[in-house]
Amino acid sequence: MLPTPEAEDLIALTRELVSKELAPRAAPAEEAAAFPRDIFRLLGRSGLLGLPYPEEDGGGGQPYEVYLQVLEEIASVWASVAVGLSVHTLACYPLSAFGDEEQRKQLPELLGGELLGGYALSEAHAGSDAGALSTRAVAEDDHYLVNGTKTWITHGGEADFYVLFARTSDDGGKGISCFLTEGQMPGLTFGPPERKMGLTGSTTAQLHFDNARVPAEWRLGDEGQGFPIALSALDSGRLGIAACAVGLAQGALDHAVRYATEREQFGRPIIANQGLAFLLADMAAAVESARATYLDAARRKDRGLPFGRQASIAKLVATDAAMKVTIDAVQVLGGYGYTRDFPVERYMREAKVMQIFEGTNQIQRMVIGRHLAKSVAK
Ligand SMILES: Cc1cc2nc3c(=O)[nH]c(=O)nc-3n(C[C@H](O)[C@H](O)[C@H](O)COP(=O)(O)OP(=O)(O)OC[C@H]3O[C@@H](n4cnc5c(N)ncnc54)[C@H](O)[C@@H]3O)c2cc1C
Repeated sequence: MLPTPEAEDLIALTRELVSKELAPRAAPAEEAAAFPRDIFRLLGRSGLLGLPYPEEDGGGGQPYEVYLQVLEEIASVWASVAVGLSVHTLACYPLSAFGDEEQRKQLPELLGGELLGGYALSEAHAGSDAGALSTRAVAEDDHYLVNGTKTWITHGGEADFYVLFARTSDDGGKGISCFLTEGQMPGLTFGPPERKMGLTGSTTAQLHFDNARVPAEWRLGDEGQGFPIALSALDSGRLGIAACAVGLAQGALDHAVRYATEREQFGRPIIANQGLAFLLADMAAAVESARATYLDAARRKDRGLPFGRQASIAKLVATDAAMKVTIDAVQVLGGYGYTRDFPVERYMREAKVMQIFEGTNQIQRMVIGRHLAKSVAK
């Protein structure tokens, strides 16, 4: 259910773009592990790269719930592109929410569609415990000198800009600051793309900072404010991943239902067997209940209500649903599901990472537990 006729038009436009431009490209690009940079320009030209940001900043001025449903449509066909769009949106958040007036003048360029962003928080020894990061930014004259390595960065080496989280003091989580950096600059080099199980069309690489100079005026927020900025960006980002997971699961379910009505065994379509129809029914129930969790969280966010607990619940429920539904979709297709001639095995490989990035599902449970404990303490 969409809130406005404008949102309905947006979803219709997305569906058309997805079926004409993305669907034919997805499988070959994933097979070749080819990053589809041109597709992001196409999304930009279609006004889909800055949807939840204000129009006066160059965004689409859409409620979060509408942006997420656009993401879902894209993910149902090509998860790498949907995750890329979600990461770009995440990367624009610190500037939009914490940039000063002068800094925010850059937003139209970031949201305009020509540029692509990355979000550089994780490090080899600071994954779930991101507050333990050790990349250092030392203030010198009019700039910061940055040294250290960021790992697992989506769009690493491909992005035009990164939001970078680096240590400006030894005071644990209070010693981290947030910076906007250029995608290519002296002192910044990249590792080779990680060889992943899935999402092969989405480049993931290390960022090596070796005496890279970041202008002091590109620090977002105060020194030491970086970790709260990172966490608040992730609250919204997790909703993006939840929507991607629901789209992926819906795509797998659609393939499975179509196959089950066409494939005949014992002289009738396999869906005529209650044993298989029940499996499909459980898949549909998982997809629709997962969608309800992300929409609930997004509507709270759109109304300015706290939504952190609901975002973690949505990420947990939706990505676990995507894992289960995509495994079951392979089952519905039998031996054919296990081949690369059908897309469901790819969907299954892509679902796995959704339980891992932007906070593993164990970490989501930790966040939900903390919210519950706080609610009683009040
Ligand atoms: C494809 C991909 C893309 C990514 N993109 C980005 C990106 O763009 N930017 C970025 O900054 N990062 C990115 N990441 C990193 C991602 O966010 C981390 O991989 C994730 O946060 C987990 O960190 P880790 O891999 O170091 O695992 P660890 O933190 O080492 O966790 C290993 C296991 O231990 C569990 N665990 C850890 N601590 C606890 C605890 N306290 N209680 C219970 N269980 C626990 C975890 O749940 C997990 O199962 C990406 C990762 C992947 C795989």
